[in-house]
Amino acid sequence: MEKMNNDQIVLASSNAGKLREVAKILEGTGLSIVPLSETSFQGEIDENGETFEENALIKARCVSQALGMPALADDSGLEIDAMGKEPGVHSARFMGHDTSYDIKNAEILRRLSGLPAEERTARFVCAMALVWPGREEKVVKETMEGQIAFEPAGENGFGYDPIFFLPQYGMTSGQLSTEGKNAISHRGKALRKMAETIRQMQEEK
Ligand code: IMP
Repeated sequence: MEKMNNDQIVLASSNAGKLREVAKILEGTGLSIVPLSETSFQGEIDENGETFEENALIKARCVSQALGMPALADDSGLEIDAMGKEPGVHSARFMGHDTSYDIKNAEILRRLSGLPAEERTARFVCAMALVWPGREEKVVKETMEGQIAFEPAGENGFGYDPIFFLPQYGMTSGQLSTEGKNAISHRGKALRKMAETIRQMQEEK
């Protein structure tokens, strides 16, 4: 079995923000994170899974198999109960990849107009998969529960954050600081869980 210390894991993403978050949370595991852009990976990944877990696994498998290295991938999105859990795995593609989030968010508020707070429940979901050649595949999934706001608020975060209201904080995730959001977010929780899984794998080896 390959050893797990002083090893490199490819992050199947070229998003600088995600890279920083992942590197920070995996500090102390002895693993270093390599962005996909610094590898020879050239392929296109078809994220055609029906669940967040499937999509995270598709990405991690594709990169791990192409490079023969361990790969970590995440897939995330927003589930809105009143919209049958859409946009879900289609969150980035909802109304088209290139449509601005001001327009996407306005459309969601329009579709939910007239609904009271208790019927506006929603959650951010993040699945994270680790595919390590010769080892069992690992997938974790975490959520951040909230409601669709009545109007957008906040300049922090990205995507659907301005319309994602957290009743317990009395603000949207777009109004939280980066640290505040990482402490409670779907992605922060999934990353910490994956870091724990990796620590356990290191002990088992
Ligand atoms: P992916 O996981 O990079 O494919 O992103 C999925 C999409 O889900 C993003 O493009 C956003 O639209 C949405 N999304 C995921 N996490 C967040 C978040 O923390 N805030 C706002 N939007 C998010």
